[in-house]
Amino acid sequence: MADTLAGVKCTVQNCKYWNNGYRCSAPSIEVNVDGGGASANRSHETNCHTFAPR
Ligand code: SF4
Repeated sequence: MADTLAGVKCTVQNCKYWNNGYRCSAPSIEVNVDGGGASANRSHETNCHTFAPR
């Protein structure tokens, strides 16, 4: 298995960086607020912009 980011759990299984065990093998990830801006109120208002489809 590729090296994965410690402490990152990801459920987006169709991302090319996703690995079994909910692990991310990207070198780093960028997480942003949905719709832009710099603050969110709930976790579902944020998302990973490093995502790339398989
Ligand atoms: S890049 Fe983002 S969406 Fe893809 S596996 Fe890593 S954390 Fe998940």
